[in-house]
Amino acid sequence: MIDIKRKLDFSARKVALATFWVETFGCQMNKSRSEHLAYLLGEEGFSLAQRIDEADILVFNTCAVREHAAERAINVISKVARERKEKNPHSIVVVCGCLGQLEKEKLLGKGKEIDVLAGTHNWEEIPLLIKKAWQERVKIADFKEEPPLLYQERGYWHSSFISAYLPITFGCNNFCSYCVVPYTTGRERSKPLEIIKEELMSLVEKGFREVTLLGQNVNSYGRDRGRERGFEELLLDIEEWLEGKKIWIRFLTSHPRDLREGIVEIVKNSSLLCPYFHLPLQAGSDKILQLMRRGYTREDYLNKINFIRQSIPEARIGTDIIVGFPEETDSDFQETLEVVKQAQFDVAYTYVYSPRPGTAAYLLKDDVPEEAKKERLHILNDTLRSIYQKKLSSLLGKVVEVLIDQKEKGLVSGRTANNLRVYLQESFGEVGEWKEVVLASGEGNKIYGSAKR
Ligand code: SAH
Ligand code: SF4
Repeated sequence: MIDIKRKLDFSARKVALATFWVETFGCQMNKSRSEHLAYLLGEEGFSLAQRIDEADILVFNTCAVREHAAERAINVISKVARERKEKNPHSIVVVCGCLGQLEKEKLLGKGKEIDVLAGTHNWEEIPLLIKKAWQERVKIADFKEEPPLLYQERGYWHSSFISAYLPITFGCNNFCSYCVVPYTTGRERSKPLEIIKEELMSLVEKGFREVTLLGQNVNSYGRDRGRERGFEELLLDIEEWLEGKKIWIRFLTSHPRDLREGIVEIVKNSSLLCPYFHLPLQAGSDKILQLMRRGYTREDYLNKINFIRQSIPEARIGTDIIVGFPEETDSDFQETLEVVKQAQFDVAYTYVYSPRPGTAAYLLKDDVPEEAKKERLHILNDTLRSIYQKKLSSLLGKVVEVLIDQKEKGLVSGRTANNLRVYLQESFGEVGEWKEVVLASGEGNKIYGSAKR
């Protein structure tokens, strides 16, 4: 491996070089960063491969949030990279993203197949590193400890023609005690308003039907620029920019501490802003919430949920929950279950706690036995499933508007504004169309729609 010094002094001339594929692990933020990287690679003269196994350049944009998933990703990368190299010895394997930033030693030690290893803070330079590795047949490792001071990200190769991601903040300042994200992505930076406007208007012009604003905590948009209510201001601006247009605007993720009533009110009065709130609870006991450094209590959380439910009865609420955090007793876990039952979540992603080096919680003893963690996860998922089942039956017969965005196996499917996926017969409509349908039947966690009479 050679270490690249800061200045890259070789030609950035466009040349028809080779094909690439970007494989993404992890969250929507990561998917969006992959779309940005794909755009940059296109600008550099590379073209997108039709399929992963045809690509000359195979990029893995990784995630480091949980150890298990990270280990699995390393194994997948090693295996795919080995196979790729056997088939095409000229191919280039690139690993970047959060795992690249956090676990470079591990990757360098193990991944002999890796040609370019980069992190999260040198994103704009990755295409040039790849070009150098491709042209000069050298192995490169390149990192920056801190993200660039100036806002740089411009341009995305959108992987859908219907739904687009639009990141509005990068990084995170919250330092929840279990989480590596602030370490891998740096301090929170808000995208300048003019750039958001430009990007959003261009998406509208291109005919996108829905746009999801992204950030680890969208509610704190603008805080780093001295705007305490920056997210409300942004939403109101968006309302103005898009007045009279048919488009849906979603946003993810809302930190429960920062979801203010004003935000809910703006969504309530809007025909563009979708009434879905992703509000990660993480735990239902005040003791654990404090150890997690989440900055709210169980009561604060439930008050926010009640406010949303009362203000916008059709709103759906999603969450993330971690079980088995250090010092979580059975009774703490019971409190989580109680909050889950009261909150009546519509969507939930559940995880077993994973100690991550460098985080504050890593210093706490990981003292919940593996068996107890598994059992709690199981009980939690069962509880959530029975909530979904009841909700599903209560929805049958309702008329909803669906934006069709997928087609597979003789069916099309789409989401409602409040983020419910509905499956329909293929003849029902085309991808990109909005359709009014009746929620007709449920099967497992799938809900099917039929024609409105
Ligand atoms: N910014 C978002 C979430 C980012 S990470 C938020 O604040 O909610 C996505 C989810 O992964 C988190 O909500 C959390 O539930 C989970 N997670 C993060 N670190 C974890 C860890 N060390 N162990 C288990 N789950 C974790
Ligand atoms: Fe991680 Fe907390 Fe930031 Fe979410 S808010 S990314 S959980 S530190």
